[in-house]
Amino acid sequence: MAQTPASRGSGLAVGIDVGGTKVAAGLVAADGTVVDYLRRETPAEESDAICDLIADTARELREAHGLRALPVGVGAAGLIDLDGVVRYAPNISWRGYPLRERLAARIDAPVRVHNDANVAAWGEYRAGAGVDARSTLLMLTIGTGVGGGLVVDDHLTTGAYGFGAEFGHIVLDEGGPRCNCGNRGDLEALASGSAIGRMAVEAAESGRVPEGSLLHGASPLTGKVVTIAAHDGDEIAREIIATAGFWLGVGIGSLINAIDPEIVVLGGGAMQAGELLLAPARAAAAERIMGGTRRPVPPIVSARLGDMAGLVGAGLLAMDDRPPASGRA
Ligand SMILES: [Zn+2]
Repeated sequence: MAQTPASRGSGLAVGIDVGGTKVAAGLVAADGTVVDYLRRETPAEESDAICDLIADTARELREAHGLRALPVGVGAAGLIDLDGVVRYAPNISWRGYPLRERLAARIDAPVRVHNDANVAAWGEYRAGAGVDARSTLLMLTIGTGVGGGLVVDDHLTTGAYGFGAEFGHIVLDEGGPRCNCGNRGDLEALASGSAIGRMAVEAAESGRVPEGSLLHGASPLTGKVVTIAAHDGDEIAREIIATAGFWLGVGIGSLINAIDPEIVVLGGGAMQAGELLLAPARAAAAERIMGGTRRPVPPIVSARLGDMAGLVGAGLLAMDDRPPASGRA
């Protein structure tokens, strides 16, 4: 069983999830409970203004509860190195931005900065769907893109330089559609919310969407629209989600062979599709697990913390003060 939260230290931390449109900050307790919470719009074009805002939210939460220094953990989308430098962020203007250093200068407290899917994995491991896992959890966040997070031997594992666990960019079909990263046919290009939307557009353009379909004439044809139509029983929408689920399972099966996790947790907006996405993913994964009848096969389950996974994980990671397996951060 998992260690009890008390054995990993106690108290509170501030966890902050920095998105392209909002900054969400929470006061996180040792068991992962969010004691208090606030949200602000992200000034996405101004690098230092975002940093100021993050520092302000941390201060505001601390002061509202009469607390002094608290560890602060931040999760943000993008390539973040072990020194907390954001090498590249897809939705905001940080390019080689020393976020941890600048935040530490503004907040008189220890600060940790990680990729958003990595902190979400830690949140689910410590306080969500993976709370009973002993040491090893694989997480995929399936939204506009596909993010990844990995816990091995009870540590968040981010690789030699901090850029690991980008499972969205493992290539499954070299002749497949192009991903924003430049790859063709990687998991993100085949199974993300954007991929679901793209498949619907392609179906419409090729005349495969019949007039009676909920997708007929819908604009814009996004992953969300397809998911709603699929829940309403629309055949073509269900087919598209099942195709995304198939590729998701192909990727997960390979990742299970590589990592041997105890549990696979799937989060992100595309999980609104529920079993319509999960069932084909489970089936495709099961067919690809090496020696699947002779070994434990990990459950593939929905995340539990929803939108809060990132800030809960960031807060707990700061509180746990447990460096990633790669060592330095
Ligand atoms: Zn990619």
